[in-house]
Amino acid sequence: MRPHGIMFHHFHGQDHAPSQGSIDAATFADLIDRVGADRILSADEWLHRAENGALQDDDVCLTFDDALRCQIDVALPVMKNLGLTAFWFVHTSMLDGEYSRLEVFRQFRETCFDSLIQFYGAFEEQARNTVGCQTVSDALDQLDIGTYLSEYPFYTSADRRFRFVRNEILGEKRYTQIMDEMIELFGQSIESLAKNLWIDADQIQSLAEGGHQIGLHSHTHPVAVAELPPDRQLWEYKTNAQRLRSIIDGPPRAMAHPCNSYTPQTLEILEEIGITVGFRANMVEGNWSRLEFPREDHSNIVREMQACGSQSSPATKPATSR
Ligand SMILES: [Zn+2]
Repeated sequence: MRPHGIMFHHFHGQDHAPSQGSIDAATFADLIDRVGADRILSADEWLHRAENGALQDDDVCLTFDDALRCQIDVALPVMKNLGLTAFWFVHTSMLDGEYSRLEVFRQFRETCFDSLIQFYGAFEEQARNTVGCQTVSDALDQLDIGTYLSEYPFYTSADRRFRFVRNEILGEKRYTQIMDEMIELFGQSIESLAKNLWIDADQIQSLAEGGHQIGLHSHTHPVAVAELPPDRQLWEYKTNAQRLRSIIDGPPRAMAHPCNSYTPQTLEILEEIGITVGFRANMVEGNWSRLEFPREDHSNIVREMQACGSQSSPATKPATSR
């Protein structure tokens, strides 16, 4: 095993309802126990060792993506109890009232549909209405469900089909347009769905003061940074860094690639703006640089725990959202 991060997104408990892939505080504590709290380095120590090429094979760290309020409300108290710190990869547009559609769309899916399958059905219908039924059918003929996104073993066939339509047929612009139309059709708004989803500047500052590492995750959280022109990529990360610098002491040194999307040029841009350590979003083997440390999705560890019967209660909903 190589040194790696463990990647967390959604939690439930307190005011946060269970959602796809979410876990509760008890499962989070069980997961830390299974990984071994003594293997988990503080965020500062991980950063220091990573920068100096001194990480050991079994070193791990905890990482939280997307600056979600449920992470602060549910996971942070558990970490405080255990004296652990983590990396928090924070996109910043929401601090200016510009909401990452990715998270708002997830909230829409979770709150306006009885099941994910129901959402996928409604979405595909809307996609067919927009780009033409035959176009979607012809493209779907090219989908090999067994190999598409096979690096994410926890995706179901329906998850893969949805992502194929979203990523390969529509692209980000048309996907956003279709989802915005659906939200309106359901009598919702971006603002109502965005309520209480993210942490604010005070909470980011207090995390940093508590010994956590605040890192970049782009400004607006595009789903495919790799497809953006280099100047837009630079804008995403530079704006993100400047915004975080206005909140925390010192420049951010770590980052995580949103949706695991980047190019060699992205890595050059990150080096240029002073980032020393970066994280991918899966455990795929490769000859990775310091800006591409692997991360294990928490759902893979939870699944192992459930398979071993070590979990005390069925406290997770399957799969994750990305
Ligand atoms: Zn993210």
